[in-house]
Amino acid sequence: MNTFLSAEQDAFLARCRAHATEHIAPLAGDLDEGRHSFRDVVSGLGQAGLLGSFVAKEYGGQGAPFVNLVLLAEALSEFDPGLALSLAAHAQVIELLSKHGTDTQKSRYLPLLARGECIGAFALSEETAGSDYAAMKTSAAVSGGKCILTGEKTWVVNGSVANLALVVAKDDAAKLSIWLVDLDNADKSKVEIGSNRKKLGLRSAATNDISFKGLELAQDAVLGSSEVAETAIREAMDVSKVLVAAAATGLMNSAITHSVDRARTREQFGGNIGKLQAIQWKLADMSADSSAAKLLTYRAAWSKDEAPEEFSKDAAMCKFYAAKTARVHSAEAVQIFGSLGVSDDEPIEKLYRDAKVTEIAEGTSEIQKNIIAKEVGV
Ligand SMILES: Cc1cc2nc3c(=O)[nH]c(=O)nc-3n(C[C@H](O)[C@H](O)[C@H](O)COP(=O)(O)OP(=O)(O)OC[C@H]3O[C@@H](n4cnc5c(N)ncnc54)[C@H](O)[C@@H]3O)c2cc1C
Repeated sequence: MNTFLSAEQDAFLARCRAHATEHIAPLAGDLDEGRHSFRDVVSGLGQAGLLGSFVAKEYGGQGAPFVNLVLLAEALSEFDPGLALSLAAHAQVIELLSKHGTDTQKSRYLPLLARGECIGAFALSEETAGSDYAAMKTSAAVSGGKCILTGEKTWVVNGSVANLALVVAKDDAAKLSIWLVDLDNADKSKVEIGSNRKKLGLRSAATNDISFKGLELAQDAVLGSSEVAETAIREAMDVSKVLVAAAATGLMNSAITHSVDRARTREQFGGNIGKLQAIQWKLADMSADSSAAKLLTYRAAWSKDEAPEEFSKDAAMCKFYAAKTARVHSAEAVQIFGSLGVSDDEPIEKLYRDAKVTEIAEGTSEIQKNIIAKEVGV
């Protein structure tokens, strides 16, 4: 299915799949068990010229359409969807810097982010500020050309592997602002990065809490201004939602391949289970819904470049629909595999675990439905 893809993008997807097959497939189990992380794969992606597709040419990227990054996320997710979540956090930082960074900030970080020599993280959520992130308490107190950052961020993807974090805080007027924190050079006594959270799925994406204990930043470490912060946060979240939708569609590609293979080869009652209509219909539903989710995801990626006024709505729709499709049909894949579906010797149980997390990370399904409902005008 390549309705939205040019010949170049088809070729790019083939390159991404070849890279994932050679470099990610052998690591998939270790990635899930935390023995490898995004850090171990990111420089390979950078060297292969896959990571910076979405960075402008003048800053060392390829200046390709956003669809290309979505294709990379989909290809990686056929083996490990957690990588797409890490990629989403990295892409949020690229998006924020590209749109709102000063020339100095862009020249300093974008080439490194494009090559995978710098990993990005986006710190928005807090213990008491999840869906309602504006209720955050982290403060950025500005005076005398300095900013003092104080607060505790939770669930920061790439927290333990990132070099650069974009941290959202409230200024003295209680307005949101976004701060660049160079984690490599920050005062280590003022920044505490928690251990990797143990979670149901998408485990390869290191997810950490980060405390800032009066960290001093230069005032020019601010991204844009508090006037654009709300818009910038929404733009960053829209980008990551589409990449999480790509995680869901990539994992469904894998669920379909494994399930069809199992249906063809598993024999019960004197024939393979793929001859049973009960199994055929599961595969038909899985295939139709996955194709619809993929089309919505490509459409949202296309909107970012070609119909930006529709991007927020399309990003919410693809995230909501692809995550639901992955959750429902990865469960059906488990059913097709029977007892092997719940065995951790087979890849199916991991797909099921990973799928559920796509309904929560980067904005829950309920919040996506709120966004869609607002767009339809109720
Ligand atoms: C794997 C993972 C990765 C993450 N990565 C990051 C990251 O990199 N950076 C970061 O800052 N955060 C990150 N998060 C945090 C994530 O954005 C929040 O978990 C998410 O926004 C939900 O917030 P919450 O967990 O506090 O749930 P809550 O907001 O407490 O929601 C609980 C339930 O109430 C529902 N609900 C809440 N408000 C409404 C409403 N208005 N209407 C309808 N239903 C509602 C929710 O949908 C949900 O079902 C990550 C989370 C996970 C699980």
